[in-house]
Amino acid sequence: MIGITNIYPYLPYYRISLESINRAWNRPAGKGTRSISNYDEDVITMSVNTLSSKKKSWDDLDFLIHATTSSPFVEESSAAIISYVLGTGADCLNLNVNQSLTSGTKALHLGLQLLKEKKKGMIIAADRRDIQSGEDLEKVLGDGACAIEIGVDHVMAKVEAFSSRTDFGYDTWQLKNEASVKKSDDKFANEVKIENLVAVGKDLLETSNLQASDIKWVIVADSQTKLANTINSKLGFTAEQHFISSLNNEIGYLGVSSGFLYLNELFLKANSGDRIMLLQSGSGADGYIFQVTSNIEDFKKENGLLLQLSSKTVIENYNEGLVRRGLQKISELKPYATKTYMRRERENNLRFRGQKCGECEFIHFPKRPNCHLCGSREKMEWIWLERTGTIVTFTHDHVFPGDIEPKTMAVVDLDGGCRIFTQMTNHSHNQVKIGNRVRLSFRKLHEGGDFPNYFWKALPIIQGGV
Ligand SMILES: [Zn+2]
Repeated sequence: MIGITNIYPYLPYYRISLESINRAWNRPAGKGTRSISNYDEDVITMSVNTLSSKKKSWDDLDFLIHATTSSPFVEESSAAIISYVLGTGADCLNLNVNQSLTSGTKALHLGLQLLKEKKKGMIIAADRRDIQSGEDLEKVLGDGACAIEIGVDHVMAKVEAFSSRTDFGYDTWQLKNEASVKKSDDKFANEVKIENLVAVGKDLLETSNLQASDIKWVIVADSQTKLANTINSKLGFTAEQHFISSLNNEIGYLGVSSGFLYLNELFLKANSGDRIMLLQSGSGADGYIFQVTSNIEDFKKENGLLLQLSSKTVIENYNEGLVRRGLQKISELKPYATKTYMRRERENNLRFRGQKCGECEFIHFPKRPNCHLCGSREKMEWIWLERTGTIVTFTHDHVFPGDIEPKTMAVVDLDGGCRIFTQMTNHSHNQVKIGNRVRLSFRKLHEGGDFPNYFWKALPIIQGGV
């Protein structure tokens, strides 16, 4: 049997309240919050962090497909960078599926085809779509990522049907040299969405020989509940079959990753045998029918979505939200970096690997030619460092330029050995104390050398484990 074997969500720690967005533009208050990525997060870091706290090396993956509309790169493979950081082998097949809100569902279809010759793969969908301040979409969109693992063993949802319909030019778009997403008139866009989503839904039922009553839940991956109601009634589904996600209210609509996150949320309450229809629009529409297996119970015990939803800080000041998200710069850091340096240091900086002395077992980070403790130049072995540790000492640097706050630099003793020096993120300064437990999170350090430079930063361990 082939199908979905696990789902790993990643939600940024910060939220902005809808009330604060509306207050800034003199609109009625509104309820709910939107997830916002921190200034040191992009779709590459969020994609890595779907998986980075689960295990260090994902060398058992045969392929990795990255799906997004908001890669920091127009040219350069985000999938290749993510794969490297996650420790897949150089023979792991990498693919990027970009530029449409159905990139995730299309990537899943491609992945399922690849499983005819390969055993295990990962689809990682992520979005961080920028909106012009004051535009309506600002109230709707959030940031986040979701990874779907597919394979042949321990399947928790098998795929019974897939359908896809191609169209273009009716909903959202972004031009190459523009910084934000634009949106068509809702009434026009919804007419076309309904046409495409209903056609895909009908095709799914026909090709699988199922009736509407055979489906337990329908997910319409869209921010508008009304639109989903119209589609469901046209397809013959009842109100009880309509899955209403709590995510839109808590984190907003997360673009390419939305469909997978709704699926994650629903799987937490689904039972073996339940059939689920997922409908997603974007350059036409895609749809799936999944059937849940008894392996879903193992997934429910380990999945991190609810913990991540509850681990948050809500920002109530609109300007602070813009600065936090990196859209408003206070002062600019002008760091130095080169491609040769990045390549030379990539085992340290990107994979967070250290070197263990074969003579005395002292663990070093970053790499060095001889052992700091015994001086041996022999048998320095690369090892994966633990990504949890304890603060030994720290300082708040008020002079460091850029971003949002005094920069906290911390010395951390990693579990399993090795002392490192790194920045802290997602923290409030007055709560940092010697002895605090921290986790390492993959983050953007700066854009020296005209490319994003990444590193691992320490954050309070209490925050949902990512
Ligand atoms: Zn040594």
